[in-house]
Amino acid sequence: MITLHDKVFEPFILEDEILDRIGTMGATLSTEYADKKPLFIAVLNGSFMVSADLMKCMSIPCEISFVKVSSYHGTSSTGRVDELIGLNTDIKGRHIILLEDIVDTGVTVDKVVKLLSVAGPASVKTCTLLFKPDAFKGKKTPDYIGFSVPELFVVGYGLDYDELGRNLRDIYKLKED
Ligand code: 5GP
Ligand code: MG
Repeated sequence: MITLHDKVFEPFILEDEILDRIGTMGATLSTEYADKKPLFIAVLNGSFMVSADLMKCMSIPCEISFVKVSSYHGTSSTGRVDELIGLNTDIKGRHIILLEDIVDTGVTVDKVVKLLSVAGPASVKTCTLLFKPDAFKGKKTPDYIGFSVPELFVVGYGLDYDELGRNLRDIYKLKED
């Protein structure tokens, strides 16, 4: 068990199991995207660790770019405006694999897909290490899923609790008392 800030977490998905699953995902993607030179777009910060391990399991030519999603108040009455920061690759005609650490309600992934779609990619598919089906209210279930998990709060392997825990090799869940 580990403590981060004021909360206690217990092991949930161990490193070996994570890497094993990512190996399978990499093999699947390498087959399905052979000759397509896919461009992975990974959403920071949480996805940095899964990105690195998944890239090592790709056996075909592929590229990766990292983005952040920011939401700011527009100047007029448009309310909040979403913006992708850091995408300096032209994605027109490209096969995009959007890479996430976790898809919970699906709000984030829907936003990013929408923002990417206007730039004319050949295709956009979504890939996430973790998926919470019971919390999901998005448009489309992720195309590639590492693990479906219950509605628990998890940390580790890139995922944080108030910025702590991203460095952990295993995934932990909040301990219920
Ligand atoms: P969404 O609800 O838009 O699908 O997910 C939004 C974000 O909430 C995720 O990218 C992630 O940063 C965060 N999130 C959702 N569930 C968890 C969780 O169990 N643990 C952690 N650390 N972050 C989560
Ligand atoms: Mg995330």
